[in-house]
Amino acid sequence: MKIAIIGIGTVGSAVATAVKNTGFVHEIVLFDRDGVRARAAAEDLGHAASFGFDVKISAVSNYRGIRGSDIVIIAAGANQKPGETRMDLLNKNAEVIKDIIPRVMSNVDAKKVKIIILTNPLDVMVMLATKLSKLPSGRVIGTGTMLDTARLRTILARQLDVSTQSINAYVLGEHGDSSVVDWTSATVGAVALDDFCKQMKISLPATTRNTIEHRVRNAAYEIIRGRGATWDGIGAAAADLLRCLINDEHRILTVSSVSGAGNEMVAMSLPRIVGANGVVATLKPKLSATESAGLRRSGKVIRKNYDTIS
Ligand code: NAD
Repeated sequence: MKIAIIGIGTVGSAVATAVKNTGFVHEIVLFDRDGVRARAAAEDLGHAASFGFDVKISAVSNYRGIRGSDIVIIAAGANQKPGETRMDLLNKNAEVIKDIIPRVMSNVDAKKVKIIILTNPLDVMVMLATKLSKLPSGRVIGTGTMLDTARLRTILARQLDVSTQSINAYVLGEHGDSSVVDWTSATVGAVALDDFCKQMKISLPATTRNTIEHRVRNAAYEIIRGRGATWDGIGAAAADLLRCLINDEHRILTVSSVSGAGNEMVAMSLPRIVGANGVVATLKPKLSATESAGLRRSGKVIRKNYDTIS
């Protein structure tokens, strides 16, 4: 399995580390328009790989080097500076995706390649990459709200004193400020969240839920304020998605992918079954009227921004 990573900054390097540690990949090629940075990363990562799985890691100086890649991960582009929103990156990163996708498509097998998008604003970039690549929508996948969902599960697990693995709760919609927490479908093990709270005599009133939502939506801002950027979470999310694709796991992940047609066409995160062919099905989650309205609003935010750059 050969993986190409385009954009070897903070995120691309973290993704390479997480991917090499899966043990599912025999070759990783790194491309960045800053060739010195890519070569230095390949050296460092190659040394690290000698302590673990046998993975060949190299930097390539042009797109011919990505030939034969089964999956291409795009982590290139401007990141958020403190106080910036993901949508503030729209115009800059649309140019980056417009530069990268045609070059990628000239060097991969369009019949089988899958593209994973990490660049923000993620959902709009998924729409743009889907259009430019002309690939079936299920094979252009953004990590979407996988990370937001992980943040929600982590907070809830601590609040409820159970493992994150036992929390089935999703963040849907935009990977951004209009994301929506689906409280209605949330379960702990096989027990509905409200029932779990009743049985365990835990209080989770609307004010606490609002605070949790706020913490989930603001997690990236807080991390950027404290660390300058975010990388560990997205590295792990990208590697998890990759594992699901490589092993044809058919796990349900909140990834972003284009659905709908015409004016209704939009990419956003919904619970989707992911396997070797990419997104193979999308589920309709149970939502309250407020959550449904929030999801529609989120779709409109994504679509409105896409319309300004397409
Ligand atoms: P960074 O500045 O550290 O690295 C970006 C890299 O992209 C640089 O090395 C740069 O040379 C390269 N690059 C820029 N334009 C390029 C082009 N046209 N071709 C090839 N390489 C190019 O930024 P970062 O912190 O690594 O963030 C990268 C992207 O990932 C940002 O858009 C950021 O918002 C996004 N991100 C997404 C998530 C998520 O959950 N999806 C999480 C964190 C960051």
